[in-house]
Amino acid sequence: MTTSRTGTESPRLGEAEAHHLDDTDPGHRHLFHVPPAGGGRYPDAAYLAGNSLGLQPKATRAELLADLDAWRRLGVEGHLEGERPWLPYHEFLTAPAARLVGARPTETVVMNSLTVDLHLLMVSFYRPAGERTRIVIEDTAFPSDSYAVRSQARYHGLDPDSTVVRLRPRPGEENLRTEDVTGFLAAEGHTVALVLLGGVNYLTGELMDIPAITAAGRAAGAVVGWDLAHVAGNVPLALHDWDVDFAAWCSYKYLNSGPGALAGVFVHERHHGDPALPRFEGWWSTAADTRFEMTPVSRPPATVEAWQISNPPIFAMGPVRTSLELFDSVGMPALRERSLRLTGYLERLLDEVIADRPLTVITPRDPSRRGCQLSVRIAEGSANELTKRLRHEHGVIADAREPDVVRFAPVPLYSTYHDCWRVADALAATVEAGA
Ligand SMILES: *Cc1c(COP(=O)(O)O)cnc(C)c1O
Repeated sequence: MTTSRTGTESPRLGEAEAHHLDDTDPGHRHLFHVPPAGGGRYPDAAYLAGNSLGLQPKATRAELLADLDAWRRLGVEGHLEGERPWLPYHEFLTAPAARLVGARPTETVVMNSLTVDLHLLMVSFYRPAGERTRIVIEDTAFPSDSYAVRSQARYHGLDPDSTVVRLRPRPGEENLRTEDVTGFLAAEGHTVALVLLGGVNYLTGELMDIPAITAAGRAAGAVVGWDLAHVAGNVPLALHDWDVDFAAWCSYKYLNSGPGALAGVFVHERHHGDPALPRFEGWWSTAADTRFEMTPVSRPPATVEAWQISNPPIFAMGPVRTSLELFDSVGMPALRERSLRLTGYLERLLDEVIADRPLTVITPRDPSRRGCQLSVRIAEGSANELTKRLRHEHGVIADAREPDVVRFAPVPLYSTYHDCWRVADALAATVEAGA
């Protein structure tokens, strides 16, 4: 494939090629509502912010209204009657969620929101004892995760500054090397109670080697959990086979289930039914067939459902169910294939644009070390200012992380090659060359 240029200062970057690629490798954009941008001048935004908030599937509205209608028609009977009774509603999400993350159905449940779930999982899986007290995170962990682990340390009467270990890339490097993480665990793992890393780093877009780090952490005697907020729906997973202890992910980023959507949880089956594990319980922790016996003592099932506490918000479950069904029908392997082509294409265009501009791609260049997101560091000006101009002047919606990182996520379900072309074209027009 060649890229034709029609100018030197602002290369046209082969717009015809982008259209051709969209014809031959179309994706599923027609299943989504794409918002306008630039005050309506761009009826379809080039939406590259699906790593922050995914777009609305067209199917969601009708499905949500059907659940609302069931309440109107059935009142309390809706718990047991109707097309999707509320009592077992979470079970409709279990199989597709399990397929999404490579788990057994007994290992996944959709409940609460992400940080809440991380806390509930740490109740069970962060149990500092003796010299084994430390929690390992990455220095660029999403702030919520950092606050969560620091508050867990305090909850156990420990000093968060000495308890939480923040792994940094080597000087002059942007990303953590797997061997630096596994090397740390081999050397100091006897002091580590919990490893809790982001599977894809929200800032750099680096995909960690989840199986290798999980194996190293467990070999060192630590518990290994993963925050998969930027992985679920982005990269295929095999949590069961990788022996991951636990994981959680939100559903409003790549899973397109709406702002603040419910989170998914994975607990490996080797922990199910373990009476030694502390858990916080409520009436949804007890086995479904005993729930209405209203006994004072719970009888939790030997599945991840033992970690549930409350009856779930049905109107929040609906959009997750609709989205998971879509992922189930397309399949993560096919999505990942398209994702590699789409992000590779954006990378190639960005390389043309950044050649003579003060911009650097900080995401790993090896496609097996990243998901769909490419993060660009700007040497001048503010990331917020740049994304504002991209949005208003070019209809390109990207996400800024101050002071100097702009994130572009071509989402394999609905982003197009032409979206990627618009990003590169807009950057070429917006960022002064020759700096
Ligand atoms: C998006 C994100 C969160 C958000 O947490 P909520 O509890 O859903 O508000 C947490 N951690 C990571 C790594 C994220 O990317």
